[in-house]
Amino acid sequence: MKKLLWINGEFVGTEKYLPLYNPFNGEKIAEVAAASDGDVLRAIDAAESAAKTMAEMEAFKRADILQGVADLIKEEREECARIIAEESSKPLRAARGEVDRTIMTYSFAAQEARRIHGETVPLDAAPGGEGRIAYTVKEPLGVIAAITPFNFPMNLVAHKVGPALAAGNSVVLKPASQTPLSAYKIASYFHRAGLPAGALNVVTGSGKSVGDVLIKDDRVKKVTFTGSPEVGKYIRENAGLKKVTLELGSNSALIVDEGTDLAKVMPRIVTGSFSNQGQVCISIQRIFVHESISEEFTALFIEESKKLKVGNPLDEETDISAMITSNDVTRAKSWIQAAIENGAELALGGDSDQQVLYPTILLNAKETDKISCEEVFAPVVHINTFREFDEAIAKVNDSQFGLQAGVYTKDLNKAFKATKSLHVGGVMINDIPTFRVDHMPYGGVKMSGTGREGIKYAIEEMTELKLVSFKLD
Ligand code: NAP
Repeated sequence: MKKLLWINGEFVGTEKYLPLYNPFNGEKIAEVAAASDGDVLRAIDAAESAAKTMAEMEAFKRADILQGVADLIKEEREECARIIAEESSKPLRAARGEVDRTIMTYSFAAQEARRIHGETVPLDAAPGGEGRIAYTVKEPLGVIAAITPFNFPMNLVAHKVGPALAAGNSVVLKPASQTPLSAYKIASYFHRAGLPAGALNVVTGSGKSVGDVLIKDDRVKKVTFTGSPEVGKYIRENAGLKKVTLELGSNSALIVDEGTDLAKVMPRIVTGSFSNQGQVCISIQRIFVHESISEEFTALFIEESKKLKVGNPLDEETDISAMITSNDVTRAKSWIQAAIENGAELALGGDSDQQVLYPTILLNAKETDKISCEEVFAPVVHINTFREFDEAIAKVNDSQFGLQAGVYTKDLNKAFKATKSLHVGGVMINDIPTFRVDHMPYGGVKMSGTGREGIKYAIEEMTELKLVSFKLD
């Protein structure tokens, strides 16, 4: 199967194509176009001219197109899930979950498209402002470049394309090289739903070369990026005066206080630790358990993790499958080994089979071990204990990242203390840090990024506020 670029409402060939392999079995699944600089520039040309059409399009029409896409995905839910499972090795049940969330995300975008509005401003609150009526409007920015990662190839595209089009912008989308098929599928749905040609363009190819053309072109008014902190920093440093949203990584933590009903919460903690092979930006990586319950916690956690079924992502029963690249398996294993050599105890896993890394649990890793202080982005979790609640909060905050944190506690005072003291973008009381629904504000502090997604919040960052003042005679 040859996948061409999607520019100005049609599939366009290019000179170079790269093979795309299924990460689980190594089979070739497609030949994917690698856009040249000229191709990317043509995509920006198309987006620039469509930006005018989009800016003039009525809100209800934008809403109808977005809802149309949500409906088309719903009709082809199974096909979409299989595309995700094949190209990213996300187990089928989780892939279906992602498709359902994508439907929600475009539905929210359709709803938000209808309620983008400003406010009246009482200019006469200041001397000199009398005799005027003023209001604000939110105008689209124009061309937005969206760069997305492999781990939620459909829903994270939706989190950028949905609000961008809802607000009347046009988009050039650069999906991750490992997961282009979901992005091209979405482009075909937008075409079928009636989106004007050029309003959404998809260009695949090397992140650096496609990214550089997008980042440096003055016609691109905003870069919205989800991916690794390293690339996020590069974009921020090279995007000039463009608006930039960065949704980056983390080493998310969970605090489990004394009094927690461990049997009740354990399945959820295991899911939050190992779902999608731990390749989730809010995957549980560090667990801090009160010392009075730590033995019971560890025993139950190991027992529950052993129930996970490892296998082909297309099997209904599979919970854990291949990681995205063999390099990531090698990297994670070297970090596990280094932690063990530094005194950590291996309680489960640590082995791999081809590109599958088995769920791995370590005890008492040091905060300076890479499996603790860097983003591991693999099915690797470590458990440490605490005596005082303040100590646990300090340990969670002792991180270069700050995306979300979870706290299980029965004590209301501790819960409020945690909400106030944890330096993260979102605090989940009596839940795992991995909790997300698609309309909530979502984003990080510190190295986890800047800006917020969650349709309404992304729209804020994809529009420009204009003040209008009428001086009355
Ligand atoms: P990545 O390697 O940073 O890639 C993300 C995207 O950036 C891909 O499309 C990639 O293209 C592109 N890219 C690479 N180099 C680039 C450059 N120099 N300029 C512009 N674009 C460039 O990240 P990933 O491995 O796909 O995803 C994992 C990371 O994403 C983790 O750190 C995870 O925590 C983070 N993430 C964050 C969130 C959030 O909402 N905060 C959500 C999901 C994932 P190629 O594929 O062609 O290299």
